[in-house]
Amino acid sequence: MSKEKTNSNSVLENLPIGLIFFDKEGNTTDINAKALELFGFSDISMLSGFNLFASPLLCDNTKIAVKTLPYYDSFFNYHPGFSPSQQSEVPPGNRTIRIDVRYSKMFDNEGNLKGYLGAYIDRTPEAVNNEKIRDLDEIISMTAEVAQIGYARINILTDVGFATRQWYANNGMGYNDQYNGLEMFTNCIHPDDRHFITDFREAAKRGENPKLQALVRVNRRDGKWNYQKVFSVVTNFDPKHNLIEVSAITQNVTEQIELEHDLIEQKEKAESADKLKTAFLANMSHEIRTPLNSIIGFSRMMCQEDMPKEERRDMARIVEKNNEMLLQLISDILDLAKLEAGSMEFIFDDVDVNRLCMDVSCSIMLKANEGVKIRTACARPRCFIHTDPKRIEQVLANFASNAAKFTDKGHIEIGYKITDDNSIRFYVEDTGIGIPKDMQSTIFERFTKVNAFSQGAGIGLDICQAIMEHLGGKIGVDSKVGKGSTFWFELEIEC
Ligand code: ADP
Repeated sequence: MSKEKTNSNSVLENLPIGLIFFDKEGNTTDINAKALELFGFSDISMLSGFNLFASPLLCDNTKIAVKTLPYYDSFFNYHPGFSPSQQSEVPPGNRTIRIDVRYSKMFDNEGNLKGYLGAYIDRTPEAVNNEKIRDLDEIISMTAEVAQIGYARINILTDVGFATRQWYANNGMGYNDQYNGLEMFTNCIHPDDRHFITDFREAAKRGENPKLQALVRVNRRDGKWNYQKVFSVVTNFDPKHNLIEVSAITQNVTEQIELEHDLIEQKEKAESADKLKTAFLANMSHEIRTPLNSIIGFSRMMCQEDMPKEERRDMARIVEKNNEMLLQLISDILDLAKLEAGSMEFIFDDVDVNRLCMDVSCSIMLKANEGVKIRTACARPRCFIHTDPKRIEQVLANFASNAAKFTDKGHIEIGYKITDDNSIRFYVEDTGIGIPKDMQSTIFERFTKVNAFSQGAGIGLDICQAIMEHLGGKIGVDSKVGKGSTFWFELEIEC
């Protein structure tokens, strides 16, 4: 500062704040020691010719604000040791400091504008720290988001607290949802799991210093449940001052839990498939041996020369029946293998539906028990649909052959109806033994039989179901034990 310092000037000189004085036009008039140190100036000459309002360090808005307002706060970055005019040419890598500044107007005793005062403080340490905090905050938020970890701290006596964005997300809420107290979070939790939270809070209120570690289900907005691990402890217990602070960490573990459930399901499926395979092999050897033994035995007897003609004819019928059964079994097994491998062929053509029903009815007449009437019921005098004729005949014939197997008296009706929603419903109705209600939903599953000792491998209906899936149709059964069954399948038709 100039030699003729007043007392007040010497105070300013010794202030720990950098000061630069400017005249009315913005030209530098004086600088205190702290400002010299701050900006790394060896002496005031480094500021010679510096004009506040011509400086590129101040943006236009700041210049206007400095001129018009009593005071104005701003900030800028500075390379110490270089004059203001050199700032833009400072080579990279030089030290930069962050300066906070307050520009104030100065007036004389008459209230006329005398000049301006710039008061400068080095905020570099705070700026660096803030930057570090911001970086850290970003890292923590990113980690929390990726690991789906949420954090909350709540005074359970006043309901006042703080929660991270991920905490809201874990609870199936938006960060900007209005906070209506702790109950809002509790209500998101599955009613059966809420006691974990309420018990913990009650224990915390009683001063028992509880620790919560639980897996709870949280309502998702789509009506399903997310799984969330919750860890909670009391972090500040001062009920006298109305404070019981609870800190909680939650982690969304839905994916892991769903994966676990999937794996368990797969394991159970694999185990059951293994059991089924064993059952299948045992069953198959029985199903193959029975007709084969008949065929071999009766064929041998038929060859005996002294066999009476009548008996030989009966034996031929038995051999014929067992041939058919064996053939059906082998054809079912081959179909099953083709369906598994996805190599079953579907060839579409126009199908005469009435003819199809008649053919199936005829083929079943020989198989049906004596006294069982075979009927055909066609809803229209003529009806053609476009589908795979071989496959729908296979399904209908399978229904009819089962009906023949399980019906001792009454009738078997083979037919179709046109439904209101433009579909054709084929059906085989019988007055046979029927199927218990609890088995009707599983009867189409592979190897399922109501009676384990009845003839058949339990794969026919499974094949029918797979064929219908390929043809985009529906399949089902209506049945009553002792009254009979109606097996049906439905295909959409174009009108
Ligand atoms: P399979 O290939 O051995 O004939 P299916 O899969 O066709 O086996 O049938 C499975 C089981 O469904 C049969 O063993 C029987 O218990 C039951 N079932 C099928 N059709 C009828 C029916 N019309 N009446 C009574 N039970 C039936």
